[in-house]
Amino acid sequence: MVEWLRASTEAVRAEADRLTELDSAIGDADHGTNMRRGFTAVMTTLEAEEQATPGGVLLVAGRTLVSTVGGASGPLFGTLLRRSGKALGEAERVSDGDLRDALETGVAAVGQLGGAALGDKTMLDALLPAVAELPDYAAAARAAEQGSKATIPLRAHKGRASYLGERSVGHEDPGAASAALLLGALFQVAR
Ligand code: ADP
Ligand code: MG
Repeated sequence: MVEWLRASTEAVRAEADRLTELDSAIGDADHGTNMRRGFTAVMTTLEAEEQATPGGVLLVAGRTLVSTVGGASGPLFGTLLRRSGKALGEAERVSDGDLRDALETGVAAVGQLGGAALGDKTMLDALLPAVAELPDYAAAARAAEQGSKATIPLRAHKGRASYLGERSVGHEDPGAASAALLLGALFQVAR
């Protein structure tokens, strides 16, 4: 789990400018900055206090995202990790199936918190098809990437981009692009 978050942090850092550019088209141009700040804080926290269990790692990472990211993406990605961590519980070893179940729970919690559904042009358009492919990490990463690109022709129905109405059409959703980075990082470390 630590390696997953480390690889995610590296991906977010490398792609922060692109994420902010996506958010400048249909939002307020802070998504890359938000994600970079959040994940940098996650790594600082994890390095400061070693966690005893995989679930504990995700729980602490999620809490850190919630408390360090002001934008909508902080509570949403924070909830994804926090609820997934909670679902893993105190287990010292986690199987691929356990992780799939936990992430499914985490993604469902994101849907509950934000009230978005598939096709609303949010991070869920990458997360939902991805978890459906787990525990095939390669297929999940591919599905997240495709799901993110599939947001381009959609009109946003949730979040800041929804204020643009029709004008949100033709742009990739930044949060979905970030979700694809996280799933890509998971594939990378699982391999
Ligand atoms: P903010 O919109 O507050 O500036 P960010 O720019 O960091 O926050 O994140 C924007 C991303 O958050 C969007 O691209 C979208 O994927 C995601 N998002 C916003 N609102 C919701 C929601 N209600 N449900 C799911 N995801 C959402
Ligand atoms: Mg924004």
